[in-house]
Amino acid sequence: MARDTGAQCKQCRREGQKLFLKGERCLTDKCGVERRSYPPGEHGRGRQRQSEYRLQLREKQKAKRYYGVLEKQFRNYYEKASSQPGITGENLLRMLETRFDNVLVRLGFAASRRQARQLILHGHWTVNGRRVNIPSYQLRDGDVIAIRTNSGATQVIRDATELTGQVPAWLQADHDALTAKVLRKPERREIAAPVQEQLIVELYSK
Ligand code: SF4
Repeated sequence: MARDTGAQCKQCRREGQKLFLKGERCLTDKCGVERRSYPPGEHGRGRQRQSEYRLQLREKQKAKRYYGVLEKQFRNYYEKASSQPGITGENLLRMLETRFDNVLVRLGFAASRRQARQLILHGHWTVNGRRVNIPSYQLRDGDVIAIRTNSGATQVIRDATELTGQVPAWLQADHDALTAKVLRKPERREIAAPVQEQLIVELYSK
């Protein structure tokens, strides 16, 4: 499975904001953006040229990095989103939001999407009673998520739940039993991604 292995703090610094890619560290003063709030690289502190195209491109890059999706896969999501009824940008975000790895983060069962992907790939979770080891798996309304019996990752997952704030209203989590349910699809206002999806649609529609 192809994945982005680049330095995560650099990605946040490039986008000029915290994307919370590293779990607990993101909540401390060791955060790369807190320590160096300028883009990485030799010209990081130079003046940035702004153009419409640049804004659109950065927004797309930010969304990819936030959800940990590579270019080709992201483009596929866009193609699917544009063929669905409704607003393309919202469809796109909804598909990214309902990926299995992202849902584990929203539920508080993983401290970061990278950790969520590892837990899924190692087979620690089931959906509707069946083992699912595909991080991009699209969850549907009514799906029941549960930790596998005898999973060796129970403590890691419990530690992650300690970092969690509120679980979004479209999900239901039981942090004691380590189970959860997808109640419905998220509304746009319930998707906490720091992304202006319209700019991405404009970029891909050129
Ligand atoms: Fe981003 Fe987290 Fe690194 Fe801060 S610590 S720069 S939020 S990945």
